[in-house]
Amino acid sequence: MQKLLKGGILVTDEGTFQGNILIEGEKIARIGKFDVEELDTDCEVIDVMGKLIMPGIVDAHTHYQLKSRNTITADDFVSGSISAACGGVTTFIDYADHLPDHSLKEAAQLRIDEALGKTVLDFTLHQTITHFDETISQEMVDLVKMGISSIKIFTTYRREGYMIPTGQWEYVFRRLKELEILLTVHAEDDDIIMRLEEEFKKRGQLSPDMHPKIRPSKAEEIAIEKVGELARKVGIPIYIAHLSSKAGYEALKRVKQRGGAIYAETTPHYLLLDEGSLKEPMAQRFIMTPPLRTKKDQKALWEGLKAGDIQVVATDHCSFTLEQKLSDDCCLTILPGLPGSETLLPLIHHFGVGQGLLEYPQLVRILSSEPAKIFGLYPEKGSLKPGTDADLVVFDPKKKVTLTHSNLHSKADYTPYEGMEVQGYPVMTFLRGELVVRNGEFCGQIGQGRFIKAKRSKLYKKVV
Ligand SMILES: [Zn+2]
Repeated sequence: MQKLLKGGILVTDEGTFQGNILIEGEKIARIGKFDVEELDTDCEVIDVMGKLIMPGIVDAHTHYQLKSRNTITADDFVSGSISAACGGVTTFIDYADHLPDHSLKEAAQLRIDEALGKTVLDFTLHQTITHFDETISQEMVDLVKMGISSIKIFTTYRREGYMIPTGQWEYVFRRLKELEILLTVHAEDDDIIMRLEEEFKKRGQLSPDMHPKIRPSKAEEIAIEKVGELARKVGIPIYIAHLSSKAGYEALKRVKQRGGAIYAETTPHYLLLDEGSLKEPMAQRFIMTPPLRTKKDQKALWEGLKAGDIQVVATDHCSFTLEQKLSDDCCLTILPGLPGSETLLPLIHHFGVGQGLLEYPQLVRILSSEPAKIFGLYPEKGSLKPGTDADLVVFDPKKKVTLTHSNLHSKADYTPYEGMEVQGYPVMTFLRGELVVRNGEFCGQIGQGRFIKAKRSKLYKKVV
């Protein structure tokens, strides 16, 4: 069965042009200008005049259905992926925890099994590791075979048991190099944070607005310098997750200037919100790690995106209800994280393209083709190339929407962007040729999403 998206404006990572897209089954069959007379007589024609057609968004950092601190996130794989689909996302990359008493392969498989049958979108995983030894080194081979091509480590949360001791980092990095697995890092220096935490605890200063003081941008700067420099020495690419600060960005640039292959992602909340929100009523809504920073930091991150030093915007979607967020007012123990997948494209379009900071092809690069390339999903995901998956978002650049939680689909009962008006909004999302969202209404099948085996990152082999 063929479908024709007729008369749209196609946007790829390379440019913008007028044209049609023909879908056959799950794949893109043709794009550009072609004679519609030749098509099958039963071809379904969808008029997309005046609308943009982009490759579906790849949200490279999500935590749906995450068990954390004796509770679970508001969004499971059903509501998380439905909300993402309503925002034009077609692929997400979630995390598998390093589970005690399970091999890495088992941990990843358990996570895959949690998502299958629920997710409405395709997905792959990053595998977290929280310790390292000869057994884990061997287990990494199985991960690559099963289609997981990136590992995440923490440079903080030593007390919680997430941090691999610094003395072992080099062994981990060398092993990742052998297997060509991409290193991704939550970069905040643990020593500084521990010291400040003790000081602030003693003084009893633990309200939400103290959080950026306890986890300052200096901690991010030091961690990026340290981990980036070691990666450079070992000779591996490194991807910094959720870069939040100007100081962190400056450290990244220094590593790069010395020849390091360092890449980064930031998030909509670091680009658009600042620590002023932590003085508002119900400030718990805005607690995540790293914390929100200042307007100066926002500006630096936009510059980093524009310059191409920051390649990806992903959401770190980790949603809790207001009841969960407000059940605590100590900044060290408030459940960290916020919803974001559904608003990713509208926000970055409005504040990036709409304000002249980004061009349309850059928007596609940052939200779709770069994450797909970096995490080994390209060109099946992140492109409009004939023969690849027909994962598409049809976007109305004129549609004005006021973001409010009642119009969004996350089970979190708030949005951090409440009341913001954006111009430009997705109106249709296609997953492998099937229409799954039309005008903000999910019309697909629960469980239709597949696990996608990730190939080696393009950062290891710069040919795509
Ligand atoms: Zn995260």
